[in-house]
This record gives sequence, structure tokens and C-alpha cells, in this order.
Amino acid sequence: VSRDTHPAGSTIQVRGIPLGGNQIQVIGGPCSIETQIQMDESAAGVAAAGCRMMRGGAFKPRTSPYAFQGLGVEGLEMFQTAAKRHNLPIVTELMDVRMLDTFMAYDVDVIQIGARNMQNFDLLKEVGRVNKPIILKRGLSATINEWLMAAEYIAAGGNHNIIFCERGIRTFETAYRNVLDVTAIPVLKRETHLPVIVDPSHAGGKAWMVPALAQAAVAAGADGLLIEMHPNPAEAWCDADQALSSQQLTDLMKTLGAIAQAV
Ligand code: PEP
Ligand code: MN
Repeated sequence: VSRDTHPAGSTIQVRGIPLGGNQIQVIGGPCSIETQIQMDESAAGVAAAGCRMMRGGAFKPRTSPYAFQGLGVEGLEMFQTAAKRHNLPIVTELMDVRMLDTFMAYDVDVIQIGARNMQNFDLLKEVGRVNKPIILKRGLSATINEWLMAAEYIAAGGNHNIIFCERGIRTFETAYRNVLDVTAIPVLKRETHLPVIVDPSHAGGKAWMVPALAQAAVAAGADGLLIEMHPNPAEAWCDADQALSSQQLTDLMKTLGAIAQAV
């Protein structure tokens, strides 16, 4: 994944949408898939805001085993139904290698490896064998080198379509969910030729922090953003505090172009 292999940087295509070129791509959508109506409204909101890809979790890595764990396969079905109407490629998290064939059967466009699985080496090896772009989120306390090595596990299997996603790291600070490591953006852009995106939602953990963090990420050179939105944030089954409404997402999207232009 070293920049030495492609000094000019590389672009990953997701159904014709470029990630890593000079456009900022924003992937919007709910933390978790809840109902068909919620997904239909989310897809409409994401598309109206100008996002070209959609996120949503069917398999959720929750701290408590008693918390909602995601709808599973039934959720993938709802996600595809909603996203297809707006022609939005779908991004969803794979937690278990045993679900990989199902992800392929449901034609998941981008497979997300979550922070908690960044060093699940068997999972990384398996997604290294498929021909789908992979979003590799940074582990909660992973160093840049550990993150790069995790990406090497995927690349070593032949899949070079890897997108790094900085989502905040754990520090001594408790005033927000995680600390967005803005420094990681220029460092990764220098170390690898692959696209780097930022998830300001899981970094801050509060909706009101998301615009500032998203804007900082774009100013620091991020190729895109992964942002949680919900048609009715207060009612979200998971991560309600950090979800933007579709209007808030629309307003944020309007500010990003000028920032990207300026850098
Ligand atoms: C997510 O994006 O749905 C998620 C669980 O994030 P992370 O793995 O970064 O905690
Ligand atoms: Mn979430």
C-alpha cells in the first residue's frame, strides 16, 4: 500500500464513482438499518443532500451484548431496496467471515471493516481475496503503522481497493467520544497511494461536533467522509446523539466544496 508503488496516488471506482480523485465523496446514512421506511427516508435524504453513496449497518459491533445487534440479512434486503431507488452504492460492515458469501450475494458495493476488527487478521485475509472495495477503519488504539500493516493483509491477498477511514482514537480525554486524529490524514496521504476518508460522527460522538470535524478533515486533505444521518435523529436505535438530520447533512455538504477548492 506504500506510496512508492504509485507516487501519483490512486483512485478507487465504486460503480463509476471515484474515490481518491479531486472530488470529495460523502457517504451518508444511518448507523444501523432499522425499518424499510427508515431506510427509504434515509436514502432520499442522503441523495437530496448530494451524497453519492450510502452507509448503514446490518451487523452492529455493540459494546453490550444486550443492545440492538442489527437486523442481519433482513437488513441487507431493506438496504438494497432503499438504495437502488436512488442508485446509491451501499457500504456496510462485515464482522464475520461466515457472512462474506452473503455480502457478495446481496451485491454489497463496499465492505466496511470496523474499528474493532482492524486487526482481525483472518477477516482481513478473506476480504483480500474478493473483488470489492474495502473501507478499513482505524482501530480504537491503533498506531498508523499497525493500520498500514492491517491494510497490507488485505493487499497481500490481491485486493488493492482499500480506503482508509480515520474515525477517532482513544485518549485520556472524555469530553467527546474519541479524538479525531487530523494529523493522520496528511501522514497517511504521504505513506500510501490509497484514498483516506474520515468519519467525524464516531470521532465526536455528538451531532453538533460533526460539521467542524468534517470541515477540518477536508481542509487536511481527506478524500471523503463517512457521516451518520437519520430521518429522525432523536429516534435512532443506535448512536442517536451523533446522527445529523437530512437538513443538517445538506447544510454541511454545501460548505465542503469551497474548503476542498481552497486546499
Ligand atoms: C460504524 O461505522 O458503524 C462503526 C461501528 O464505526 P467504528 O467501527 O469506527 O466504531
Ligand atoms: Mn454508529
